[in-house]
Amino acid sequence: MYYSSRAVVIKNRDLKETDALVTLFTEKQGKLTAVARGVKRAQSSLRACVQPFCQSQFYFHKGKSLDLITQGKLLSFYGNSRQDLQRTLWCMYMMEILDKSLLDRVPMPDLYTSLCHVLDKLSEDTFHPVWIRYFEIRLLINLGYQPIIDQCVKCGGTQLRPYQFCVAEGGLLCSQCARGQKVFALSGESLALIRLMIQNRYKALERVTVSREAEKQVERFLEQYLQYHLERRFHLKDTIALLKKRLDLPIDKPSGGC
Ligand SMILES: [Zn+2]
Repeated sequence: MYYSSRAVVIKNRDLKETDALVTLFTEKQGKLTAVARGVKRAQSSLRACVQPFCQSQFYFHKGKSLDLITQGKLLSFYGNSRQDLQRTLWCMYMMEILDKSLLDRVPMPDLYTSLCHVLDKLSEDTFHPVWIRYFEIRLLINLGYQPIIDQCVKCGGTQLRPYQFCVAEGGLLCSQCARGQKVFALSGESLALIRLMIQNRYKALERVTVSREAEKQVERFLEQYLQYHLERRFHLKDTIALLKKRLDLPIDKPSGGC
């Protein structure tokens, strides 16, 4: 049986002399690993298609255990991102987190669209790190961890100022419910930014101006939230810590609004 799908390459590993095992995030079937035969030969047409974080159209043949990639057509190489170490690391961070958190063959077309949008943004001169936060929130939502921000997650109350988010409960708490709880304080600006991401309003995100304080606060908030919810299932803590450390390399960050 044959099938085809667009896919972003998460990683590839050597398999035998000329073959490779390629882990893909496909648009139609979610994450899967397939064999690319002869891909390490110089003349293989598949070589360019299986580079990490490029997007290709793949054609598969269903195998007994692993499927076989029979053909591929490169759609986006994201060359600009590969020429910049900081952007390359961001792409690697997204691939790593997808690899660690997605289960095999669970289709997530909404997350696929969001990922491609962020990869496109990373290739633009005006890229802003807030798009990485957007990816993190879209991932959390698709995994079933949407942050609750419109009412108190415990009592349903709507008197939420000052904004106190309980990571363990997965939502904002009113002042009464927040007593004695470990909470993460969020500013109104940070909360508005998180709301735009949850609502998937990326056109509005393109126009919004984000202060440095809100950018850093949302980054720290999502780091805690990702670690709390994904660590229990996927042991992501070390991966996130390692990649964040690499991302803190003293490299000039791209400037520009988002
Ligand atoms: Zn409450």
